[in-house]
Amino acid sequence: MHTIGILGGGQLARMLALAGAPLGLRFVVVDSVADACAGQVAPLVQADWRDFNALADFARRIDVATFDFENVPADTARWLSERTRVFPNPRALATSQDRLAEKTLFQRIGLDTPAFAVVDSCEDLHRALEQVGLPAILKTRRLGYDGKGQYRLRSPADVGPAWQALGGAPAILEAFVPFERELSVVAVRGQDGELRSYPLTRNWHADGILSASLAPAPDSDALMPLALAHAQRLAEELDYVGTFALELFVREGRLLGNEMAPRVHNSGHWTIEGAAASQFENHVRAVCGLPLGDTRALGVSVMLNWIGDLPPAHAVLAEPRAHWHDYGKSPRAGRKVGHATLRADTAPEMVERLTRIGCALGREAQVAPVIAALQAAGAA
Ligand code: AMP
Repeated sequence: MHTIGILGGGQLARMLALAGAPLGLRFVVVDSVADACAGQVAPLVQADWRDFNALADFARRIDVATFDFENVPADTARWLSERTRVFPNPRALATSQDRLAEKTLFQRIGLDTPAFAVVDSCEDLHRALEQVGLPAILKTRRLGYDGKGQYRLRSPADVGPAWQALGGAPAILEAFVPFERELSVVAVRGQDGELRSYPLTRNWHADGILSASLAPAPDSDALMPLALAHAQRLAEELDYVGTFALELFVREGRLLGNEMAPRVHNSGHWTIEGAAASQFENHVRAVCGLPLGDTRALGVSVMLNWIGDLPPAHAVLAEPRAHWHDYGKSPRAGRKVGHATLRADTAPEMVERLTRIGCALGREAQVAPVIAALQAAGAA
């Protein structure tokens, strides 16, 4: 019997605990917020990341620690790793917390990135703009996720407002990539170094937040070996254990590395019902040293994210092969409060299902790009 401690008590921790329960695993979750939604399914320790008394007690209660949030301070992860096993390791966490370290690593393993320049001052930003060109995105090096800590620059007049908007924090200026598609590789690496990957997932974002995912990504078979090779090198370089995601842009048939998530990832939520073993189950298997589960897709899956508030569940629940996930969070603008996964055996069946659900929920705009991608793949 293992007890897994999770730093961060959001929906990812909640879904990890739900996936681990059938394996007889127990969970304890640490979060600074009393109503963290994982606390509805596992014991919650309410503590700050720097409350080392509470963390020492937590470390005594668990066999292994992991994360639902990549911005847990790397110092806390290192401190914990002297008291219990921690997967992924603190170095992997620290690398993915800093966009500069992350992009430098991508380049070292042979994965191209959008052009970028380091920005530590307003003068740097002027210089970086000459180097990178317009349009561009200024991104804080740390603590950015879901499009937070980003400012889009369209003209040189945006330099001042961009620098102010990010509060003068160390940043990178990145060329805006007019990509054709966004893809992610969700993969899991075991303690013995075995790596298993789910099929490539195609993703659509709205305001920097994931809106929809489609798996397996149509028309991506040719890119899969290269994407997988990048994921494998990345995981080996970091001596990574557990599930992770590598987010990629496709531009003129080439892959560019956007970012890496050192944890289970929103673009892998479809695997709960759409794969033989989910990304959550595989993460807990990996951190406990158990054999990894089958990552093959079962037909076609689409995940629709519910941001801000939940639509009515009835229209989705009435649909065959549709799955509803309510994270038990209160509604708030920009907050991920739930998702639905739709499954089908074929692309035309999925198009029908998406059309019906989009219409019933008044979410036609959310499903439209997914339908277009499925139809384009069918027509090709
Ligand atoms: P990030 O938090 O860096 O993953 O950014 C969130 C989303 O913003 C990405 O998934 C893209 O849709 C978009 N984005 C970020 N960086 C770029 C870029 N350099 N060019 C174009 N779109 C981007």
